[in-house]
Amino acid sequence: MTGDSSLTFAVETSAAPMPASERSALLENPGFGRIFTDHMVTIRYKEGQGWHDARVHSRRPLEMDPACAVLHYAQEIFEGLKAYRTQDGGASLFRADANARRFRASAERLAMAPLPEELFVESCRQLVKADRDWIPGGEGAALYLRPFMIASSVFLGVKPADEYLYMVIASSVGAYFKGGAPSVTLWVSEHYNRAGPGGTGAAKCGGNYAASLLPQKEAIAEGCDQVIFLDTIEQKWIEELGGMNVFFVMDDGSMITPPLGGTILPGITRDSLLTLAADRGLTVREERYSIDQWQADAKSGRLRETFACGTAAVLTPIGRVRGRDGLDFTIGNGGPGMQTEQLRAALVDIQRGLAPDPHNWVERIF
Ligand SMILES: *Cc1c(COP(=O)(O)O)cnc(C)c1O
Repeated sequence: MTGDSSLTFAVETSAAPMPASERSALLENPGFGRIFTDHMVTIRYKEGQGWHDARVHSRRPLEMDPACAVLHYAQEIFEGLKAYRTQDGGASLFRADANARRFRASAERLAMAPLPEELFVESCRQLVKADRDWIPGGEGAALYLRPFMIASSVFLGVKPADEYLYMVIASSVGAYFKGGAPSVTLWVSEHYNRAGPGGTGAAKCGGNYAASLLPQKEAIAEGCDQVIFLDTIEQKWIEELGGMNVFFVMDDGSMITPPLGGTILPGITRDSLLTLAADRGLTVREERYSIDQWQADAKSGRLRETFACGTAAVLTPIGRVRGRDGLDFTIGNGGPGMQTEQLRAALVDIQRGLAPDPHNWVERIF
């Protein structure tokens, strides 16, 4: 039983919202993931009862028993999507239905109760309405929504929980990179992988991130910005970054992106770019691409650009790649590429309502 997908939300507006002057000061330079809004959503699940008790209320700390299952066995999943301020002061969501679908798939992989997709989307709408004053309007700014779900049973036995707590919090964010994304340098992880066949690589779960932190730390220690992972079996095929998918742009404008196959997170930005590329008549092959080929193509000039993509930073140009044993190569001139910039602009314009939306990706909330 998954419960009623048409639950009514009880809305309890915060009795002590942040004063407007303080909020405006924070929104001037929000950064990423550090400014939080006045409200949150909670919905509970209990086996036999299904989903119930949907609420919007003031953002506040959780109280939980130290034996709460999530604290021990990491049965947790999350999502990340943005609400945008429209030109006329309204608000819109971008492909929230796709996040709902992926959240459901992640829940199934982690043996958690799947949240009805319509309830997921409605929870996002509810929070955006409650926190409408927190949507920053500047270029690249948005209200970042973080839906997530934890196993909330109080039990130390190793089995799927029978109680879950779903929540949505929101964070006002500025442009991830001010004035367009600068190129980043990647470190190719050799000792560590992100996900293996049969594992949880295709699920958006906190555990995958926990496993990526040590290699990310290694990348930083090597003077790089981000880590890029190879496949676990041959240590040869490019998979993705810790939290972004990757595209390779060839000299004829065609692109390659690694195929989804269980070890790669099916990014909604990735999927949107596949569609936008097809709209523009660009060929994209979802095909394995090796680290050796990447280096050879960068050297010969057959490869022109490489970029990473995800909701938070949209498109991030990759200028240089380094790794063990002196691996070091530059892509193009090391700076942001033209096609990367054009695709970024095409996607962002749809998200912000500045261009037609032929695929019905944008939902107006108010
Ligand atoms: C969230 C995520 C992405 C990007 O997905 P989007 O839907 O485009 O934001 C890519 N890789 C990993 C590992 C992720 O967790």
